[in-house]
Amino acid sequence: MHKFSFSTLAVHAGEDRTDNYGALSVPIYPASVFAFQDADEGIAIHNYEKPGYFYGRLGNPTQMALEKAMAELEGGEAALALASGMAAISAAAFTLLKAGDHVVAPESMYSTTTNFLHHIQKQFDIETTFVDATDAEAYSAAARSNTKMFWVETPSNPLVRVTDIAEVSSIGKLAGIPTVVDNTFATPCNQRPLELGADLVIHSATKYLGGHSDLTAGVMVGPGELIEKARQGAAKFYGGNIAPQVAWLVLRGIKTLGLRMERHNENAAELARRLQEHPKVRKVHYPGLSFHPNHDIAVRQMHGFGGILGVDVGTAEAAKSFVNKVKVCTFATSLGGVETLIQPVALMTHATLTQEERESSGVGDGLLRISVGIESVEDIWQDIYNALG
Ligand SMILES: *Cc1c(COP(=O)(O)O)cnc(C)c1O
Repeated sequence: MHKFSFSTLAVHAGEDRTDNYGALSVPIYPASVFAFQDADEGIAIHNYEKPGYFYGRLGNPTQMALEKAMAELEGGEAALALASGMAAISAAAFTLLKAGDHVVAPESMYSTTTNFLHHIQKQFDIETTFVDATDAEAYSAAARSNTKMFWVETPSNPLVRVTDIAEVSSIGKLAGIPTVVDNTFATPCNQRPLELGADLVIHSATKYLGGHSDLTAGVMVGPGELIEKARQGAAKFYGGNIAPQVAWLVLRGIKTLGLRMERHNENAAELARRLQEHPKVRKVHYPGLSFHPNHDIAVRQMHGFGGILGVDVGTAEAAKSFVNKVKVCTFATSLGGVETLIQPVALMTHATLTQEERESSGVGDGLLRISVGIESVEDIWQDIYNALG
């Protein structure tokens, strides 16, 4: 069969013209309860012997349309949509892990994931070894007999480091350890971890999938059996279900994902090139730059290098002055929206880590994270240029 390009898939993913009167936009089903036709049907649906819906926390047709779309885009068997990226991350962990198990994870990544792993160590005796994730062998070296999950985040927050997904996944497969990839920064437009051998993909749909800084959501994609285990376990018991109104918004965002990512990729590459020549910039972190330490693997596993830049302006003072001066760029946390967002990372999201943790993960006081939006690149550049001056 002809394989469609990503943009085509993104526009049509999850489409179903047989139900809902052929509506091109899947309807929002706000119902928290669904009635049964008769006793036999009710019992069959409730006991999962017949497909259907019965209670809001356990799904509805709008949520299912989003799950179908995401499974298609990531090339997975099934998907589970949740209330946030963290709901997806904790659901993945609580599906794969139990007390006494061990995790290997990157020393530099989204700080709430780091803190979550510390939390489950204290609360549930699930220990994590944090490694340099740009070295796949480090996963192998850290693995123990009780290791039950390899966690990968690539490109990573905030230094956009790249982990070799195929290599880590194959080490995991040999040892019987599932590899989970946080694909938030890349999106399935730029990178498809399941095709590279990963077992499970998770997303903060709050970022590029939604794309308009107007929702909080998460998704998990992987083999049908694992997704069902998550649906009937972590999702059902901890209750982080996605609201149908939000599932609809994510679906709407996904339709333009291909188009938006093309512009994010282009704008970020151009700004990275210009910024690294600017005298006030100490360092630019972007996997598309030929001197980025993980450029080669980025070229191999990514279709585009994404919209996130790490820009080191040297000192906390310089970073603060920069965010006070920008006018087109917006000083805000988060990323992945149509608007360019900047944040002094060490002073904010990574302030929850200790100075030592920040230094060992390479987050200097002057590091800015720029989530490059889809505005005109010349307007963003002028704004950045003025703010650096
Ligand atoms: C934002 C983010 C998360 C958490 O997602 P929420 O939707 O905020 O819960 C996880 N991983 C990465 C890489 C992120 O950027």
